[in-house]
Amino acid sequence: MYVDQDLCRKCADCLPICPVGAFEIRNKKIVINYDSCVECGVCLRSGICTEGAIKQVDEIPYPRIIRAAFSDPLHHHESTEVLGRGTEEMKTNDVKDEFTEGNVGFSLELGRPGVATKLSELDKVTREVISLGGEFATYNPVLSLMENPDTGALKSEVLGERVLSAIAEFIVPRERAMDVLGELVTFINHSVDTVVTVSLIARNDENGGHSLLDDLKKLGQELGFNPYPNGKVNVGMALVR
Ligand code: SF4
Ligand code: SF4
Repeated sequence: MYVDQDLCRKCADCLPICPVGAFEIRNKKIVINYDSCVECGVCLRSGICTEGAIKQVDEIPYPRIIRAAFSDPLHHHESTEVLGRGTEEMKTNDVKDEFTEGNVGFSLELGRPGVATKLSELDKVTREVISLGGEFATYNPVLSLMENPDTGALKSEVLGERVLSAIAEFIVPRERAMDVLGELVTFINHSVDTVVTVSLIARNDENGGHSLLDDLKKLGQELGFNPYPNGKVNVGMALVR
């Protein structure tokens, strides 16, 4: 995204619209900071500029196009054909059935509007997940960024790209879930330079409860977090194979 200086009347109306604060006043001009911009398209879609001065280049080159793939809710992710960050997320598990009994699904969302993340931070997390024995979900678009799925290392050319958020989704056997969670929380707190939202998913037992919640409460007391249980049931969805 860029500002066409021939059309811009320097009203500054666009400054508050960007979720990552990429619009700047520089040398008495309104410009978009090329490094900060995550190519989410919000400024253009909002119609905030009545002069038509906010413009998109004809084709965003690779690897910068990855910014749009993980940040623009209207951009199809090439690896999954899903809009937005490229994942339907674990909340569709009751039709996808990725997280079966005996396993726990993990979701680590790096970044948020206003914070965003560099993919170099995601690279740290994916390597750590693999070293702890996590198995990435087959539909997770983060897999398409990996150079080596055996180590979790992302392709070197994407590490400098910045996205609104990216979600690493993976599966861990139930008996190892609390150990992995404890290691990950400690690792993230010490090594990752962005906000991270951690979610776990597991099927309830026949009485509607789950021992996972009790274990989470215990671990939360040790590490200083409160688990928030949340039920998800999708009504009317069906998986077509
Ligand atoms: S809203 Fe348009 S005209 Fe106003 S400062 Fe931004 S780009 Fe320039
Ligand atoms: S495309 Fe998104 S990140 Fe880039 S300037 Fe526009 S609103 Fe900001």
